Amino acid sequence: MVKYEGMEFAESISANEIQEAVNRVATAINADYAGREPLFVCVLNGAFMYASDLMKRITLPCEITFVRMKSYEGTETTGKVNMLIPLQVDVKGRDVIVIEDIVDTGITMHAFMEELRKMGAKSVELTSMLYKPESLRYEDVKPKYYGLAIPPAFIIGYGLDINEKARNLASIYTKV
Ligand code: 5GP
Repeated sequence: MVKYEGMEFAESISANEIQEAVNRVATAINADYAGREPLFVCVLNGAFMYASDLMKRITLPCEITFVRMKSYEGTETTGKVNMLIPLQVDVKGRDVIVIEDIVDTGITMHAFMEELRKMGAKSVELTSMLYKPESLRYEDVKPKYYGLAIPPAFIIGYGLDINEKARNLASIYTKV
């Protein structure tokens, strides 16, 4: 049990389970992208830990770059993504794999993946450590490669924060 902001969180996914899930994802990506040179785009801040673990298991020639998005108002529309750290690599003709921490409603990725396609990426796929199928509102961003599907409860740890804290936890914790 851990405590943040006066709330209690219980471990729901152990560090070992996470590492096994990352292994499975890496194996699938290594097989599917054999002969290609994917460009990974890590979405900061939350995905930094998953990206680090995943990349160590990728055996393909590849590159990684980083973006950071501002959460935006008007979430009902597929509005423009506001970037705090914009994309710094030309994605034209590239096989892009976006690395996310968690896909919840899918709003953020729906807009970003659409932009990558408009920029001329040859292919755009999504890998997410966690995925909340019951919360998903945009079927087109169901992650092709995800570590674990979880119920729609608030979680922290393994990169995911509560008011910028708890990102350092090696396991995932659910609010009790
Ligand atoms: P979406 O656009 O899919 O609704 O939201 C995705 C983003 O919301 C994630 O990248 C993450 O930053 C945040 N998020 C969604 N669910 C959770 C959660 O359970 N815990 C935390 N800490 N962040 C979450």
